[in-house]
Amino acid sequence: MSQHYQGVGGASGVMVGRAFRYLPTASTSATTEAPEDADEAMQRFAVAQQESAASLQTLADRMRSEGHAAEAGIFEAQAMLVEDFTLTDEVEQRVRGAGMSLEQAIIAATRQMHDTLAALDDPYLRERAADMQAVERAMLNTLRGTTATLRDLPAGTVIIAPDLTPAETSELRGNTALGFVTAYGGPTGHTAILARSLGIPAVVGVGQDVLNIPGGATVIVDGDQSLLIVQPTEAEVAHYQERGAAQDAAQIRRAALRDTPGQFADGRPVALWANIGRPDEAQIARSYGAEGIGLFRSEFLFLERNEPPTEDEQYTAYRTTLEAMEGRTVIVRTLDIGGDKPLPYLPMPSEPNPFLGVRGLRLSMQRPDLFQAQLRALLRAASHGDIWIMLPMVATLADITWARQQMRAASEALTAEQITHRATVPLGVMIETPAAAMTVDLLAAEADFFSVGSNDLTQYMMAVDRGNPTLAANYPHNAPAVLRMIAQAAAFAKKVGRHIGVCGELGGVPDVAPLLAAVGIDELSMSPASIPVIKERLLGTTHADAHAAARRVMGVTD
Ligand code: PEP
Ligand code: MG
Repeated sequence: MSQHYQGVGGASGVMVGRAFRYLPTASTSATTEAPEDADEAMQRFAVAQQESAASLQTLADRMRSEGHAAEAGIFEAQAMLVEDFTLTDEVEQRVRGAGMSLEQAIIAATRQMHDTLAALDDPYLRERAADMQAVERAMLNTLRGTTATLRDLPAGTVIIAPDLTPAETSELRGNTALGFVTAYGGPTGHTAILARSLGIPAVVGVGQDVLNIPGGATVIVDGDQSLLIVQPTEAEVAHYQERGAAQDAAQIRRAALRDTPGQFADGRPVALWANIGRPDEAQIARSYGAEGIGLFRSEFLFLERNEPPTEDEQYTAYRTTLEAMEGRTVIVRTLDIGGDKPLPYLPMPSEPNPFLGVRGLRLSMQRPDLFQAQLRALLRAASHGDIWIMLPMVATLADITWARQQMRAASEALTAEQITHRATVPLGVMIETPAAAMTVDLLAAEADFFSVGSNDLTQYMMAVDRGNPTLAANYPHNAPAVLRMIAQAAAFAKKVGRHIGVCGELGGVPDVAPLLAAVGIDELSMSPASIPVIKERLLGTTHADAHAAARRVMGVTD
């Protein structure tokens, strides 16, 4: 009998594969505690040392080839520590002398070495303490057949994990023959968003029972129904293989629409733009027919590193994106950190409600140095194409006034330094707070354009954390309350003649996208792979029909 696990969201697509458990922080206790044959244990230890060192070295090589020399150095040092004879001695003493199991001995030895290093005065040696934790994890992962990295997984692997950080999810980039399933997370959380942008099937928020699925089990990921099937029957496998084939056929059919502009069946235009997180995704966006970039989540330039990107690095990233888009608009959102997106090198005081605290533009206000570097990079890049700057987490007119002054200051400084740039570029805001949605016409005094962040707008309207899997299903982003708010914001924007888009996940939902366009949204921005699906959907309905449907869904009768 197959087992079915229902999740709360994910990324479209189906696949049949083998479960692979990814437990990055699973090293807190030993899974085997009974004493084992000491010779055998030490042989296993020697093999695990070699394998762990090899996989850390592979990671180091990859980091170096991608230009991350500092990270490469860290992994190289860890690879050496794994094979260090002190560690071997410490483990052997515990296995032979104290009769510990191998896992227990590794944990005890690495922790004692960690504590000794952490107590030293020398700052360099103190920092090596953290490496001992990594060594412990690498060794235990090797012994347990789990993994410390998500790169280089074989095709057909379905990763089962508690949740994935943005950095972990982006390790999957380029490997489209994978799927993943997480115990936690919601449909508009960043794990699901990244899965969509990578174009791999995923199910999130399945609940923690999913973590007990044995590695190697045959599983089916149905990202369309947010369903995971474990040990499927033959009939289920056959059904999903057929669906996989239909999926491939639909992809070929839609690819033919690549150069058709987004429009309703009656020809009324709807701009279909893409959400990206890195410059190289602009090419992917183009390959799916994106007519612009409606949201470049610039915070992804700040992840997977030990320090913020420099002004020059950012300038290059924005310029590369503009060049890839060949004159089309690119909306770059300024750093949106906080909430569920922390930065390891930017310690923030812990807050009881981080989603209601210092996030998005509010963090920029506390760190004008970071904001200035970003604005300078953006204004410099603006000489090479049509860049628009968008502010996250705006609630008041004063928020935008502050940012506009900052933009002016950045331009003045560049002028004084005789650095080529564009003095003013369109400055707009995300509509993510109900306060912003209800005052679009007033915000237009300072804002040149708007884009609805329906993911956050939903969580702030419904008072439901967007990452909470137990509440997500009952408080969806397509609820009448959210659609009415978006329609209201669109009407305000129309009144003051401003462009308004939707760049939250709602814009890429096939049943909802035509309704949004019908109530006055000019542009829908979504993960690149969704564009052909939405384009086909729009071509299948008229503006009038979609408008009538929108009124029905919103419960508007007069
Ligand atoms: C949103 O909130 O809808 C949005 C697009 O921003 P993010 O998902 O990055 O918070
Ligand atoms: Mg948001």
